[in-house]
Amino acid sequence: MSEVRIPGVDLHVHTTASDGTLTPKQVVALAKESGLAAIAITDHDTVAGLREALEAGDDQQLHVIPGVEISVNHGKNQLHLLGYYIDPHNDILLDCLEHLQMYRRERNPEIVEKLRDLGFEVSLEEVTALAGGEIVGRPHFASLLVNKGYVADKQQAFNLYLANGQPAYVPKERLTPAEGINIIKAAGGVAVLAHPGQLEELKDKTLLQQLINKLKQEGLQGIEAYYTEHAPETTELLLQIARAENLLVTGGSDFHGDNKPHISIGTGLGNLHIPFQVVENLAKAVVLTS
Ligand code: AMP
Ligand code: FE
Ligand code: FE
Ligand code: ZN
Repeated sequence: MSEVRIPGVDLHVHTTASDGTLTPKQVVALAKESGLAAIAITDHDTVAGLREALEAGDDQQLHVIPGVEISVNHGKNQLHLLGYYIDPHNDILLDCLEHLQMYRRERNPEIVEKLRDLGFEVSLEEVTALAGGEIVGRPHFASLLVNKGYVADKQQAFNLYLANGQPAYVPKERLTPAEGINIIKAAGGVAVLAHPGQLEELKDKTLLQQLINKLKQEGLQGIEAYYTEHAPETTELLLQIARAENLLVTGGSDFHGDNKPHISIGTGLGNLHIPFQVVENLAKAVVLTS
């Protein structure tokens, strides 16, 4: 008997509106081709890709969830929040995203200057052209350094120059987690903690539980337990915490097109199959809170 594969979903997808390499329309077409039942577009700090994605979803009869990914301060580091079923026209959200983009516009010339001080011939015009969309971030600087032959690959660009603590790193003003959660909810969205497996707290189960509990008190509604780079035991731990804290569970690949060429939409590194039930649960949470 042939195996029947129930269509999956992917709730963490980037487009050219931030640091992905496929346009929103191309992403929707690829998701459809890949047999997915739903995707969420979660670009960093922008909703600029949502209109095109939602229209393409209508055309292709694919359920497209309007989303966003916002980085917020967390000690010396950051954590990422995902907002699902947000209203892309909400004034509070748009105002906040405009501020975050302004911080980037202030920061990017400083990164250019630091790279030039290091002897690299790079310009703001070049990195902006390479980015294509309205968000210019460190992954675009990394691509530029690769294209110009200054580094072997993007990871090397981060390791040597762009990562926190390296010579071309420039910090970025960020919201607090509570502010991020509130803005997502003000825009009618469901607030979810992205890839908790990347947090330093992962090494200590109690610390991780405490952090998630604190975020829940601040209004967090779910955690991204299914994530392609989570080890199986990390996913298991996160599912357990979600149950204990009565939080929603979501999942995604963090697809970025050629900017993360090893990650495929829907299946990630090959280990993901996220059930449609996740979308049904999210949609119920929207109805309950609206
Ligand atoms: P930005 O928002 O401009 O600070 O860029 C953040 C993005 O850079 C993240 O979403 C990652 O995709 C990437 N990134 C940050 N740190 C690293 C790192 N150490 N290695 C590889 N990629 C990184
Ligand atoms: Fe990214
Ligand atoms: Fe992220
Ligand atoms: Zn992401």
